[in-house]
This record gives sequence, C-alpha cells and structure tokens, in this order.
Amino acid sequence: MCQPCKKTKFANESDALFYLDKLNKTSKRRVIPQGVYLCESCHCWHLTHWNMNDELFKSKEEVLRLKQVIKQRDDTIKVLNKAIIEFRIQPAARRKPKKR
Ligand SMILES: [Zn+2]
Repeated sequence: MCQPCKKTKFANESDALFYLDKLNKTSKRRVIPQGVYLCESCHCWHLTHWNMNDELFKSKEEVLRLKQVIKQRDDTIKVLNKAIIEFRIQPAARRKPKKR
C-alpha cells in the first residue's frame, strides 16, 4: 500500500526549486530547506524536511568537531614520536667515547 504523503507536493523539480528559492529569500525561519528530492511514495517532488536538515547540519558540525579532535591527536602523536626518536638517539650519543 502507498502511504499518503503529507508534505507539499511539486509536479516537477523546477517547481520545487522555484519554491525553495522563494523560501530562502523570504523565510524568517532559522532552518530553511536546503534541497528538493523526488519522493518514492507519491512520485512528486518535496522539499527536504526541516528536521532532517537540522540533523544533517548537526552531523556536519559533529564531523568537523571530530576532525579537529583527530588533528589534535595527530599533533600529539607527532610530538610523542619526536620524543621517542630523541630518546633513542640520546643514549647512543652518550655511549660515544669522548675524543681527547
Ligand atoms: Zn511523497
């Protein structure tokens, strides 16, 4: 059975994009639809859901945050690797007999 679609339907992509463009210029909402898609249940075009965009936005923020965390860890690893290399070189240097 086909589920009835409660979203605003558009007959084609250009109609949906026209409305999306209008919304982006006039809407005072914090979250404005960012895209359109062809619905598999009603075969009409819809604007992407507000909440879905919000979730997508949150996910993107999270990805950026995690990339920052990874970068910080990479920097720490570099510092530690440098310390390990220096630690390995130093005892060897100390073992060198002093020339007189
Ligand atoms: Zn639909």
